[in-house]
Formats: sequence, C-alpha cells, structure tokens
Amino acid sequence: MNRLPDDTIAAISTPLGEGGIGIVRLSGSRALEIVDGVFCAPNGVSLQDVPSHTIHYGFIEDEGIRIDEVLVAVMRAPRTYTREDVVEIDCHGGIAPLRRVLELILAKGARAAQAGEFTKRAFLNGRISIDQAEAVLDIIRAKTELGLELSLHRLTGRFSRPIKQIRAKLLDLLAGVEVGIDFPDYEAEALPRRELIASLEEALRQVEYFLQRGRDGRIIREGLKIAIVGRPNVGKSTLLNALLQENRAIVTPVPGTTRDRLEEWVELDGIPFKLIDTAGLREVRDEVERVGVELALSTVEGADLVLFMLDLSEPLDPEDRAIAEKLREKRTLLLLNKVDLGRSFSAAEAIQALGVDPKDVLELSAQFGEGLERLKKKLVGLVWEGRLDRREDVFLLNIREKDLLQRARQALERTLADAREGATSDLLAVGLEEVLEILGELTGENLTEEVLDRIFSDFCVGK
Ligand code: GDP
Repeated sequence: MNRLPDDTIAAISTPLGEGGIGIVRLSGSRALEIVDGVFCAPNGVSLQDVPSHTIHYGFIEDEGIRIDEVLVAVMRAPRTYTREDVVEIDCHGGIAPLRRVLELILAKGARAAQAGEFTKRAFLNGRISIDQAEAVLDIIRAKTELGLELSLHRLTGRFSRPIKQIRAKLLDLLAGVEVGIDFPDYEAEALPRRELIASLEEALRQVEYFLQRGRDGRIIREGLKIAIVGRPNVGKSTLLNALLQENRAIVTPVPGTTRDRLEEWVELDGIPFKLIDTAGLREVRDEVERVGVELALSTVEGADLVLFMLDLSEPLDPEDRAIAEKLREKRTLLLLNKVDLGRSFSAAEAIQALGVDPKDVLELSAQFGEGLERLKKKLVGLVWEGRLDRREDVFLLNIREKDLLQRARQALERTLADAREGATSDLLAVGLEEVLEILGELTGENLTEEVLDRIFSDFCVGK
C-alpha cells in the first residue's frame, strides 16, 4: 500500500534566523555518499568508512572553496530517526553558509524534503506509530509545558495502544460474526448475540471515553476560554490587566468605553487561559454600545467559564440581576470587586439576589491585587477538578483524531442498534468492518497515501 521511498532527502532542520547556527539533515541510502563528496576532514577520513554514530570535524567545500566549518554526525540504518542512513551537518558559520551547504547537498543529488517528510519516513519504516508522529507535531507547536508533557505521553504510543486493543477485540467479534455467515447453524455457538451486544457496548464506552478526554486535551492545547462580564466600570479591564501584569486593555473611568472585545492569553500553572474582556453587558442606550453588548453575549456563548463581576462599593442594580439571568446556563464565578472601597452589600446578599453557588463567589480588589491569587488558584482548580482529574488520563486529540473517533462512535452505535434489532450476520459484519477501518486509520494500521500526505504536510520541513 505504502511504497517505501528510495531517494535521499535533505533539509535545514533547525529554525532559521535564530543564532544562525543550524543543522542540515539528510536521510536515505545515499546520505553518506553525498555528504562525503563535499566533506573535507583535516585527517583525511572518508565518512563512508567511519563507524556508525560518530561525529567528525571538518569543512564543507564546493570545488575547493570552503563554505563552512562543520561537525558531521554519521548514523547508519537502522538505529536512526528514520531507520534509514542519516547524516547531520552541524553548521557554524551563520545563516548564509547554512543555506549554501543545503544547496550544495541538493546539487549533489539529494532532494529537498517536504514538510514532515523525515517523520513520515520514520512512520513508513515502522519506527513510530501515526499518533506518535502527530505527537512530534504537537511538540513542535506545544503552547505550554503541560501541553508538551501530554505530547510526550502520546509519543510513547499511549493513545494508539488502547485503540489497538479495542480494534483487536472487534476483529475477534468480526471473526465470530463471519462464522455465523458461513455456518449459520453454528452462529449461536460461535458468538451469542448477547455477548456480541455486550462487547459492542464496551467498545462504544471506550470510544466515548477518548472523545471525552479529547475535549480536555483541547483545553490544554487551545486554552480555557474565559469571558469577563459585568456592568461598565466594575473593573473588568483592570482585572484583565492585573492578570496579564501588563496594560494592554484600555482602562478608563468613563462608563461604556470598553466597546471592543479584548482577548489575551495568560498561563497559570502551565494551563493556557484565553481571557476575553467584554463591553458592559447591560441594557443598551446607543447604537455603538449595542454592537458591543451583542459581541459580549456571543462571547459568553462560546466561553468555557464566565467571570461575572460586580462593584461591591455600589448597591446591587437590577441590571446585575438581568445579567445573572442571562448567565444561568453558564459555568460562572461571581467576582465582588473593589473590596478596598468597603461593601454596599454583603456576599450573602449577592448570592441570594443572583442565585449563585456560594462556592463560586470571590471578593477581590483587581486594582490592589487583593484576592487575585485566590482567583488564579480557583481557575486552575476548576480545570483540574471536574475536567482534568488525572493527568495520565488526558489525551490530546487533534481534529483528525476527533473526527475519526466521532465516526467510529456513530458506526458503533449503528451496529449496536442493528445487533439489538436482530440484524443478519451479513449486516453486522459490514458494520464491524466499517468501525475497524475507521479505528485502523486512527492507529495507522490501514492508512491511505492521501491521508498520510495530509498529516505530514502539517509538519515543519526538516522534522
Ligand atoms: P470596566 O468598565 O468594567 O472594564 O472597568 P475598568 O477596569 O475600566 O475600571 C473602572 C474604574 O474602576 C477604573 O477607574 C479603575 O481604576 C477602577 N477600579 C477597578 N478595580 C478597582 C478596585 O479593585 N478598587 C478600586 N478602588 N478601584 C478599582
């Protein structure tokens, strides 16, 4: 199905523009020969004669002209990243020589690697599984330390292993069902329907578990989205700034002037939070403000959590109740701000008037920092508590994986419904085959060339 490549590829495999030091990497059967043709060692050694996994000092030369002083690492197949011969040229002369070295290598017969092609070869040669390959991509992009840690978990194949187990069980089921097709008399003996249904239910539960965990992965990768809402002037921008510890949002004492939605990222305990300051959510008086309020409402819609802020120094307002009403369906923390100015009402009154959970109320002073640490702890706690209860259970799902899992779930649900309604073995076999194919795509056990190319073109060149 997947042709194994036989040409030799090369790329600059370090980010350009940083420090000017970089590595040109080659992979393929001609890697050693090509580099040897342009490498000149003071001791006259030929790279084709040196032992594997050794490093050699020398120069890259083009027709007698020195391009760069280098260290060359020689790694022979199969103990390499791609399982092919790999040579890495560690260049020291800066960005211009780095490019010239690559151009020279290409002129001598290597082909410029496509994005992700090294990792694709590692996959095609069986060194890593498809989700390990995708984890490499996640590492390249990991936003935060925790995201990185989760990617590393996947790199050890912990996502594909359980999926492979589910698949193996379904293969057994398929075998049982096929016995029923070929030898109808033995069907009940080979695989009682009750057993088939129980096994399908179990597989469905597991797929759902991964989908559930995948959402948590989204939080780690994309950040928990938090909307800050409240009447104008209660201190929303001040809080945003305090959390950011830099003054990006416009803070102003004039009500109704925060009309734009401001988005900022903060990272607490390795978890990225996307904070959205909104225009005051309140009854609208002018056109410009109406736009802002609509924006605020749509922001609340998409938020994972809402911080609803009140000004403790002012009496509770009917508008506050109206806002609370709009937030009824949302996960909300009530923030009582400006505690430094004294209280016009008590937390208990607010809890009563607005119908919020006392656990979810915090007093603070956004301006003077009081209560800020508690708020941060609470935010992190919310992520870990209900959603990310145990790190080792968390999986990062990318869009492709999520889509496949959803399709697997649908196909499983259909097959399960068929089984419960007493469908024929033929029909059940078709359903099971579909599920197996989808799960196989997840673990990389039956990937088409096209899907592969799509995945690997996501990578940076040189990886
Ligand atoms: P927003 O309209 O809700 O974004 O409110 P702002 O953040 O622009 O704040 C409105 C005014 O309240 C500004 O003058 C802030 O300095 C002030 N303010 C915000 N937080 C506090 C606080 O905790 N204590 C006091 N005393 N003033 C605050």
